Amino acid sequence: MGKMKAVVFRKYGTTAELEEAYVPIPEPGKKDVLVKVKACALNHLDLWVLAGMPGVKISMPHILGCDIAGEVVEKGKKAHGVPLHKPVIVAPGISCGKCSYCKSGWDSLCAKYEIIGFQNDGGFAEYVKVPARNILPVTGKLGMESWAAVPLVFLTAWHILVTRAALQKKETVLIQAGGSGIGSAAIQIAKLLGARVITTVGSEEKVKRAKALGAEAVINYKLKDFQTEVMRLTQSEGVDVLFDHIGGDTFTKSILCLKKKGRIVTCGATAGRTASFDLRYLFTHQLSVMGSYMGGIPELQRIVRRIQDGRLRPVIDQVFPLREARQALNRMVARENFGKIILKP
Ligand code: ZN
Repeated sequence: MGKMKAVVFRKYGTTAELEEAYVPIPEPGKKDVLVKVKACALNHLDLWVLAGMPGVKISMPHILGCDIAGEVVEKGKKAHGVPLHKPVIVAPGISCGKCSYCKSGWDSLCAKYEIIGFQNDGGFAEYVKVPARNILPVTGKLGMESWAAVPLVFLTAWHILVTRAALQKKETVLIQAGGSGIGSAAIQIAKLLGARVITTVGSEEKVKRAKALGAEAVINYKLKDFQTEVMRLTQSEGVDVLFDHIGGDTFTKSILCLKKKGRIVTCGATAGRTASFDLRYLFTHQLSVMGSYMGGIPELQRIVRRIQDGRLRPVIDQVFPLREARQALNRMVARENFGKIILKP
């Protein structure tokens, strides 16, 4: 088997562990395909996998990267219905496709659920092996860098706002960290649903960009207390829906930003995995606290249609060559990015 260029790590740690290497090109199984990677986006998930997740063992050397755009160049014997040499994206979650969760589109609850680049080798490489089921054909009108910026963040944001929170027209939503990849996707989805969007960002430059995406009010949380600002912007009522992916103390304060009967959905804990709040406040205000994790392939298909007709658009921060994966990830660590950082093999 031939070799390919990849960025790998051999032990858990920081981005300093990443190195360029030549590794064997993966061989697709019967129901798999081999994808030539044209672009791969970064996610915070890459950093958690690199640091080592408690209770999850991965093979070393390991290849990160779950947001892949490219083209199928080889198919297993039973990989049907997949176009060769045409632009495709890869759904980041692998599941059995047969259980009741998979059949109802809740792939991420499948007992066999895995994420590409996490439990399997990912897209920080020239080629990646994925199940044929995960391939979604896309239009060539949009560049591959743009398509790589779509899967994980749009899928996660869609599952949160549409499926979990059931955000309605004219409701007000607070989206934490609107400058992050997921925040920039969430602002657009919330606007598409006809909601009023308030978001938080960490710099004045990001204020303008978040407004350009459709946020009605943008709070620079470094200059102003977001809870006070949310209350001022909502005439002390609070927001109907709050999208949190920060966790820790931010989550505790976020609960206090909710309107009566409000719902808060979380999908991340970058600033702390525990949060405390007064249960009396929760029940007297009749609030809902929800968790959300990734999403299903049918949701990603809906997103692709909306990207293709221009109703949603991927937001790209910067494109780096694959060999500069370390610098690219460091940019995300420093939260310098607005939108997605992309690697190109
Ligand atoms: Zn399943």
